[in-house]
Amino acid sequence: MSHPVVNAMSFDIEDWFHMVGIESVEDVRKWDEFPTLVERYTDGIIGQLDAHGTRATFFILGWVADRYPSLVRRIVDSGHEVGTHSFWHRQVDALEPAVFKEDLQRSIDAIEQAGGQRVRGFRAPSFSIRPGAEWAFDVILDCGLEYDASLFPAPRGHGGYPAPRGIHRFTDMPSGRSIPELPMSVMRLGPAGFGFTGGGYLRFLPGWFIRQGVRRLNNQGHPAVVYLHPRDFAPDCPRVPMPLKRRFKCYVGLGTTFGKLDLLLSNFEWAACETILGLDSPPEVDDAA
Ligand SMILES: [Zn+2]
Repeated sequence: MSHPVVNAMSFDIEDWFHMVGIESVEDVRKWDEFPTLVERYTDGIIGQLDAHGTRATFFILGWVADRYPSLVRRIVDSGHEVGTHSFWHRQVDALEPAVFKEDLQRSIDAIEQAGGQRVRGFRAPSFSIRPGAEWAFDVILDCGLEYDASLFPAPRGHGGYPAPRGIHRFTDMPSGRSIPELPMSVMRLGPAGFGFTGGGYLRFLPGWFIRQGVRRLNNQGHPAVVYLHPRDFAPDCPRVPMPLKRRFKCYVGLGTTFGKLDLLLSNFEWAACETILGLDSPPEVDDAA
């Protein structure tokens, strides 16, 4: 049943209204008035991971850590790694470096204060580090982070970067430094590729196909990287107006995700991103936090 390659299990912890490029949810002043699902479904995810004894990484939105510090505490108390998913969920490559730095630092502060565990990893909202935004890696290092898990090595709506498909060091940053990179899993189909281990792809594709894809990656020596959001598990996720294609991707298969996660947890070995990257366990932040 188990396979020698250990795969990365990760979740981007944000609410249903943290979507890039959807006008009706863009105004941050409305966020407090929307119904919320982030706590309920994150607790469901924690429970399922618990049942399988699996440790995962939760890339938490700083805004969520600020509003629900006890949720961050529950994630940490369950033994998981916490990373950052930025503070405001803005597209990285649409920001000025100084603005991104301020946002990223604010998110780190909020998550560390809530959870008392050091933040080491970053995942960009909508995988929005594209060619031309390599400066973002310098900001990530300048903020004291130790790895990135933002690159999506295939074309997609708001991101996409022609990165190698496995774990590597990203070296193309302006300062000449380098940083460990854990890119998303892509299935090659001729010259093209597509994701299959997270978000709309995982909800849409049948479980046997995803399992086959993970097995294939593992046979090639690569870990798979699963990335899911609380709303991916939420059949009651509020619907908002959006173009037809986007609507399909947003809402397809919401009732299938817990089952597919269970299938993956049962059939493969999983660990947190920092473990997959071979980084040591993080030291605890002061108890005062
Ligand atoms: Zn996100």
